[in-house]
Amino acid sequence: MNSQIEAGLARSSEIRKMFEAGIALRARYGADRVYDFSLGNPQFEPPVYVRETIKRLSDESPTGLHGYMPSAGHRSTRLAIANYVAERDNLEVTAEHIVMSVGAAGGLNVVLRSILNPGDEVIVIAPYFVEYLSYLNSYGARAVVCQSAEDFFLDCQQLAKCLTAKTRAVLLNSPNNPTGVVYGDETIRAVAELLDNAQKKYNSVIHLLADDIYRHIVYDGKSCPSITRYYDNSLIVTSFSKDLALAGERIGYIYLSPSHQLKQLAEAFAYTTRVMGFVNAPSFMQKVVESVISERLDLSLFADKRARIAKIISDAGLQVTMPDGAFYFFLPVPGNSDDQQFCQFMREQFRILLVSGSSFGRPGYFRLSYAVADQVIDNSNQAWCDGIKSWLKR
Ligand code: PLP
Repeated sequence: MNSQIEAGLARSSEIRKMFEAGIALRARYGADRVYDFSLGNPQFEPPVYVRETIKRLSDESPTGLHGYMPSAGHRSTRLAIANYVAERDNLEVTAEHIVMSVGAAGGLNVVLRSILNPGDEVIVIAPYFVEYLSYLNSYGARAVVCQSAEDFFLDCQQLAKCLTAKTRAVLLNSPNNPTGVVYGDETIRAVAELLDNAQKKYNSVIHLLADDIYRHIVYDGKSCPSITRYYDNSLIVTSFSKDLALAGERIGYIYLSPSHQLKQLAEAFAYTTRVMGFVNAPSFMQKVVESVISERLDLSLFADKRARIAKIISDAGLQVTMPDGAFYFFLPVPGNSDDQQFCQFMREQFRILLVSGSSFGRPGYFRLSYAVADQVIDNSNQAWCDGIKSWLKR
């Protein structure tokens, strides 16, 4: 077996392990007595209009719906997305700047494969989405971990210290998985300035790569600035997995800033899509998203769940800060103790499934995903109260 894959298997994501533990616990105790907050997979169906579009396209079955197309994707889909982001970002974006991808994960891998050489460094902000490190490892790149501040906002002084002549990209994820933090204009402007200076200092190209997958899941009137408005060498990857509940359909796109100095990158992304074996993003789903670009899941569904679980866990004695975006709480382990032991304790004693902060590069915390059915939240009330009490008494 390939040694990298063997090592990856051994490390195998804690989130996946929790997923499997959840299945085993449900089989043993019954679904209503297991409180699985471990996975970031929205427990919603796609909005009605999206489902209707799927039905309509399937019935109409226009010519070419199920065939190959250029690796960058259907031109009409890329054009529709280009028009959408052009209006949003107030930039001249054309279909040439958009490459359809197999979800955000596929898009990130295509970008990283296209821009990195072995030995290049990519700065990743902790806490980070667990898979980033495996992706980088696949391309022989080094992940340089930059810890965020106490409140999980970006620490620009730390970021400045991480920049070197080998830095090829800075990877940002806002709203953030796992913290829910949303970077504002000031932060993006400050990062852009740092990177502009570093590019001059090292005479290099440093990409600012945004994983925008939670962009539309923000609360209380917050919004997410587009990095393309602040920094020329910007790349954005996103998908419809979370805000349209289409995670299993594997559809997303890469958006190359029209001001990026490496104009050939769009072609490189299409070529990489092909040679990585994706060939193209799913054809049918490209046509679906082309018709539903402005659709979103009803945000009040997430906001309601956020409020429900916040009340339950604060009544149980946890210190809760409301996240601005995504659908996670990332909280300190009560009693300042070991995060992995805490997650194991809550799972084994109270059937509450959580993910340790250590797996996101920030020990001492745990992540709770509230994109779960309301019954899971409501039924977990007593288990949280008993669990936290017992943990602090043990
Ligand atoms: N990036 C982040 C931050 C995520 O949380 C996820 C999925 O949970 C992904 C990327 C992968 O998204 P997709 O399912 O669209 O590939």
